[in-house]
Amino acid sequence: MNEKKLQQYAELLVKQGIRVLKGEEVWVYASVQNHEFATLVVEECYKAGAKKVVVDWSCEGTDRLTYKHMKLADLGKVAPYTIAKWKYASKKLPSKLYIDDEDPDLMKGINPQKIAKANMKAFPKIKPYREAMDGRYKWCIAAVPGEKWAKKIFPKCSTEEAIEKLWEAIFYTCRVEESGTNENWDKHNAYLLEKRNWLTNLNLKYLEYKSKNGTDFKVELIKGCAWGAGLEKTDTGKEFNPNMPTEEVFTSPLAGTGDGLLVATKPLSYQGQLIEDFSIRFENGKAVEVKARKNQEVLEHMIKMDEGACQLGECALVPYTSPINQSGILFYNTLFDENAVCHIALGIGFKELLPNGASMSTEEATKMGINNSMIHVDFMIGTDDLSVVGIDENGKRIQLFKDGVWAI
Ligand code: ZN
Repeated sequence: MNEKKLQQYAELLVKQGIRVLKGEEVWVYASVQNHEFATLVVEECYKAGAKKVVVDWSCEGTDRLTYKHMKLADLGKVAPYTIAKWKYASKKLPSKLYIDDEDPDLMKGINPQKIAKANMKAFPKIKPYREAMDGRYKWCIAAVPGEKWAKKIFPKCSTEEAIEKLWEAIFYTCRVEESGTNENWDKHNAYLLEKRNWLTNLNLKYLEYKSKNGTDFKVELIKGCAWGAGLEKTDTGKEFNPNMPTEEVFTSPLAGTGDGLLVATKPLSYQGQLIEDFSIRFENGKAVEVKARKNQEVLEHMIKMDEGACQLGECALVPYTSPINQSGILFYNTLFDENAVCHIALGIGFKELLPNGASMSTEEATKMGINNSMIHVDFMIGTDDLSVVGIDENGKRIQLFKDGVWAI
């Protein structure tokens, strides 16, 4: 283990990820198997001036037992103390750092319908608090190797070797070096900002996707909706990097539009289950047919979670040459895999990309054409021959992506 890089990474999450400011309260979500790294992060938070750091610990083993043994009726209940916690968070707006290390197969063997239904029941009870916090606090999702996750990626290695290899992959894709990590991110953010401004200023009306694998899809965009990438800002202008790593430049398409076929090019890990070799056919903005070689029923449940689950929330452009794709590793984790190549998401869109969107209610954003749903699930469609053409209001065609990379 490269201790210097480990230290740089902990600092990165605190200084560039949630960008801790003096006097802040920070909530760290970590699992017990990575308590040492979580401790490093907490120390960095205090060094950066946090006044209080709370760690919300989880454990893969007990999380699985919860879903295995608890009855659906009890799983869907939200305890008063959980509500009280959400209420507190929606007032105090702590910065939230999620350190993910979850086994992609954690829920294997557990009825996906049970998990989906429990989430559906619990969601409305915390929704008002989530909405009250939306766009007003800093957050970041990053990852560290978990034992089972690392073994899933590198099945032929010993656990120790697999963890070491996954650390190296995380450092590589997060641009972590023994020194200069912070500067790497400033440079990367500047590059993402340039692409995002270019796309926003094109004022595109349609996106057209084509690939030899069968992808042939056209979707309409929302007039005035911006493209996002890299750094985000809260309503009071505090900057943060919500995803580490990040390579995508993305927008929310117009809900209720989108026709054609999208062929997935990487497996999708959803709620502990792996959906493989799948495609989704859209008509009038709705997924009308899904096909999957493995776990088709999980995909079918997913798009029926609510009305918006079969509609689109995101179109994201990522060059096929991204460090994540270059690494040649399938991470079985959306945080990484979604930043490998171009992707599309089913479910809720990004209202903050609309002018004054951050202060809009979900209902107002829905009226403007942003899709609404309890889910947001990305799936990869990028290939080395993917073409993406933008079409503006006058019908002018602009080649955005050619052979899987930026055309300009
Ligand atoms: Zn995305």
